[in-house]
Amino acid sequence: MSKPIYDRVALIGLGLIASSMFWAMKRANLAGKVTGYARSQETRDTARRIGLTDRVCDSAAEAVEGADLVVLAVPVGAMGPVAEAIAPHLKPGATVTDVGSVKRHVIDAVAPHIPEGVHFIPAHPLAGTEHSGPESGFAELFENRWCLIVPLPGTPDTEIARLRALWEAMGSNVDEMDPDHHDLVLAVTSHAPHLIAYTMVGVADDLRRVTDSEVIKYSAAGFRDFTRIAASDPTMWRDVFLTNKDATLEILGRFTEELFALQRAIRQGDGQMLFDYFTRTRAIRRGII
Ligand code: NAD
Repeated sequence: MSKPIYDRVALIGLGLIASSMFWAMKRANLAGKVTGYARSQETRDTARRIGLTDRVCDSAAEAVEGADLVVLAVPVGAMGPVAEAIAPHLKPGATVTDVGSVKRHVIDAVAPHIPEGVHFIPAHPLAGTEHSGPESGFAELFENRWCLIVPLPGTPDTEIARLRALWEAMGSNVDEMDPDHHDLVLAVTSHAPHLIAYTMVGVADDLRRVTDSEVIKYSAAGFRDFTRIAASDPTMWRDVFLTNKDATLEILGRFTEELFALQRAIRQGDGQMLFDYFTRTRAIRRGII
């Protein structure tokens, strides 16, 4: 078996992303020894029961002791406080990375706590499911998915290359991106669509009084897809919207304008407008599959 990419890895937060990383790293021997920590006792107990990490620790400080790579895999709003708590315990020369869905906020919250001589390399795997928690992870989650690395100025190329190698070995395609551009792109491709799904399912639930349970009973493919997305973790998504506010509001503004234009076309019976619009969007779909 090949030599591990990192000798010691610490996973802080033991949910979908961290547990998937653990199984992917173990499968391919990418890490020598992996420690883990999650805030709730229940999660730590579950992690111990299912063998998630080689050693589950009762504090983040203990978990990061001696680690070459520390992965922050907690909700975006918790990244700053966690970084502050672990900072005095980081090994000189270690790399801290994160997997948060928003990058500008995480950089502003985490970077000030990173001590001299420790590297901070933000990252975001574009992979997920609607499930969360320590039992939801699986080794294949990152296969053929993008991982965006957002290096800060002055980070040694060797350390960026090492983190890139880890993600590639877990099956991802890796690109580098600027944090603000990342947040705008993700607002379009992920954050706004999630909010729209939450809204659609909320509207259907409001209508239940009128339709009894028919909305759920006869839910067709379109609505079922919305319910799957709207089942995503409430804490994670609350934090995404609170921390990627400007980009999400910009995209929602544009979305609302388009929705009004389609609403007007329907009211006015403008079939040509609807047909042209749907033809354009169909071409986009055909371009990505
Ligand atoms: P999850 O809810 O499955 O797991 C989060 C974990 O963090 C849990 O173990 C929880 O106990 C722990 N936690 C919460 N607050 C903590 C704290 N203050 N200290 C220590 N542990 C704490 O979430 P997830 O889906 O694995 O998401 C983790 C991160 O990955 C988030 O920042 C999210 O934005 C990002 N992300 C999620 C997805 C996705 O689709 N789920 C995709 C890419 C990136």
